[in-house]
Amino acid sequence: MNNSFSQNRRQFLSTIGASTLTIPTLTDAFGRAVSAQPAPDRKLGIALVGLGNYSKNQLAPALQQTQYCRLAGVVTGTPAKADEWMKKYDIPKANVYDYKTFDRIANNKDIDVVYVVLPNSMHPEYVIRAAQAGKQVICEKPMAITEKECQSMMDACNKANVQLAIGYRLHYEPFTKEVIRLGQEKVFGPIKFVEASDGFRIGDPTQWRMKKVMAGGGPLMDVGIYAVNAARYVTGEEPISVTAQFSPKTEPEKFKDVEETLFWQFTFPSGAVSNSTTSYTTGIERLYAACEKGWFELSPAFGYGPLKGRTSKGPIEQPIVNHQAMHLDGVCKDLLDGKKLPDHVTGAEGKRDVRLLQAIYRAAETGNKIKLV
Ligand code: NAD
Repeated sequence: MNNSFSQNRRQFLSTIGASTLTIPTLTDAFGRAVSAQPAPDRKLGIALVGLGNYSKNQLAPALQQTQYCRLAGVVTGTPAKADEWMKKYDIPKANVYDYKTFDRIANNKDIDVVYVVLPNSMHPEYVIRAAQAGKQVICEKPMAITEKECQSMMDACNKANVQLAIGYRLHYEPFTKEVIRLGQEKVFGPIKFVEASDGFRIGDPTQWRMKKVMAGGGPLMDVGIYAVNAARYVTGEEPISVTAQFSPKTEPEKFKDVEETLFWQFTFPSGAVSNSTTSYTTGIERLYAACEKGWFELSPAFGYGPLKGRTSKGPIEQPIVNHQAMHLDGVCKDLLDGKKLPDHVTGAEGKRDVRLLQAIYRAAETGNKIKLV
């Protein structure tokens, strides 16, 4: 742990009044360390930036179940939403900001963590402003549209001595953790092939997800990222090359600006190969790993659950959890404990995925095999 991180940890713990947080080494049902106290004296206050579908339907309800954090504030450009949320979640007016007044959040002691839940192209600006306001930051996936933007977000957080987590909820989800174990511990021998695909039929063609400038691309940026991340987490390896192909457009009027369906293949240092599909045309959602001595799979693999899994030896049994509550509590417990977040849920991981998303587009556009090392 470097000096600036420990100094910042002391400042952060003193700011949140966490001097009573002595943390013994008990573990919960999922093997995570838990406090002997039922809950900390004070939960971390979270402000959600952007009150769209994910905030409204997933994060706000999850924040009613969390042990280590609570919904303390909101940032929205829509006054009617501000009124609705204040009433529904008992949020004081002093904790409500719009995009112009957002920077004043620096002076608000109720808010410890800013969670950026905006369209992809807006992530860098709001992560950087949150860091400059001295807040811990969580940012939704994809972290940004370019690798360069990811780096500037990480730099801003480092400079401000705050931590940056990415919305990788599945990294805290029990079925996903089990397939990561099966793959990385080579329980069925080395992985030879991975198939990881995620897609759905998109509705409203005027939404920001269909605009390249706001989304960075089509289904690859939105849900294909889950397949990219999964191929990496089951193999525990970084791909060394990629090839990719756009499908012909079956609805060219609708998909003027972004791809409709995209296929890509990674090769890994061990010789493992992955094949993936992402699409806005119809639903596809599975993760399958063929190993030397058997196989394992999740299907569904990436949605809000319940996820379901099997191996060549039988079903995978794991508890069904609320993904968002597990993610929020996992991140916030580490922040409360003054721990460095695990690398695989931070900006470093977000940047690795964004670099690969960019490489997949380059491979599909050029028809070339792109080397990644
Ligand atoms: P959404 O369209 O429902 O909400 C976006 C919000 O941003 C809206 O409240 C909108 O008013 C606000 N906004 C501010 N400025 C805007 C602008 N210029 N144009 C459009 N909207 C603007 O989107 P969402 O589904 O909530 O997605 C938000 C982010 O969360 C995205 O980055 C997405 O990838 C991510 N997400 C993650 C998950 C997950 O499982 N981790 C799931 C869904 C979405």
